[in-house]
Amino acid sequence: MDVRFDDRVAIVTGAGAGLGRQHALLLASRGAKVVVNDPGGAVDGTGGANAVADAVVAEIRKAGGEAVASYASVAEEALAQSIIDTAVKAWGRLDILVCNAGVLRDKAFNNMTMEDYEFVNRVHHFGTVYCVKAAWPIMRKQSYGRIVVTTSGSGTVGNFGQANYGAAKMAVNGLINVLRHEGAKYNIRCNAISPSALTRMTESLLPPDIGPWMKPELVSPAVAWLCSEECDQNGEILAATAGGFARVQYFVTEGVQFDPAEPVSIEMVRDSLGRIRDLSTAKPYTGLMGNVVEKLREMGRIK
Ligand code: NAD
Repeated sequence: MDVRFDDRVAIVTGAGAGLGRQHALLLASRGAKVVVNDPGGAVDGTGGANAVADAVVAEIRKAGGEAVASYASVAEEALAQSIIDTAVKAWGRLDILVCNAGVLRDKAFNNMTMEDYEFVNRVHHFGTVYCVKAAWPIMRKQSYGRIVVTTSGSGTVGNFGQANYGAAKMAVNGLINVLRHEGAKYNIRCNAISPSALTRMTESLLPPDIGPWMKPELVSPAVAWLCSEECDQNGEILAATAGGFARVQYFVTEGVQFDPAEPVSIEMVRDSLGRIRDLSTAKPYTGLMGNVVEKLREMGRIK
């Protein structure tokens, strides 16, 4: 059976262009009622134009779907609340929240102003938190919600000139890692998409031979899947680019375990680096304590 979103209400932030536009078009084409949120500014977040969100709303309606516009910035708490209110006012509920809005203010860290650092974090990190915070009580109350945040390889592996952006993109991973636990019993799933696509944000950054293959619409099926009722993934990161899909996961190595009853020297750490860093022994990092409990038990230090 096809994946459908009939009777579901969705918000896609930053849906006026690039990836967000494709996410909104796909969700609407499968029956979702969509709030197309976008203040319509430039890549660095300056300026604004209502026509940007309006054009996507018109596109959805022309194709027979249902959509309303929201021109609010996610970067201010009261305005983010108004985006959620727009959905509830239009259709009386909210089932799906895709936090996609984004800006760039790239500079080498040495030259980056704290203003640019804060601004980028305000849009990506706080813009996500403000929307999730406003959606959360609604989703809890109805015991249903699908939340997708947008992370980036820039945070996971780092990218020169993007300290502000990379940090903000990792912050949203931390958010879903916690919310997956808190939302589980309310059937709220929180996952992340780590996209790579040719948009105005990346047009000057991508190699010319690969760029044309990285169509934003090739990312949206993964986002829509994570928004579906069928999806039981929770706290996962899916990477999507150019038709390729993969899971991003932290691993931890077997490492070494010294007896905590004895002192540990700097040299003991230095001399064990081979084992500490040996990725061939790595396993998915799934618990707060890693494998320390097992090891201390083996050593007889705990029962
Ligand atoms: P884009 O510039 O085409 O789209 C971003 C949209 O967000 C724009 O329409 C913009 O107006 C909107 N926006 C900006 N500030 C906003 C705010 N305060 N409130 C609401 N909307 C706002 O860029 P894109 O490539 O489509 O990026 C979409 C998301 O994907 C971003 O979060 C971006 O960081 C992330 N991302 C993109 C790539 C990529 O390769 N394109 C890679 C990793 C992550």
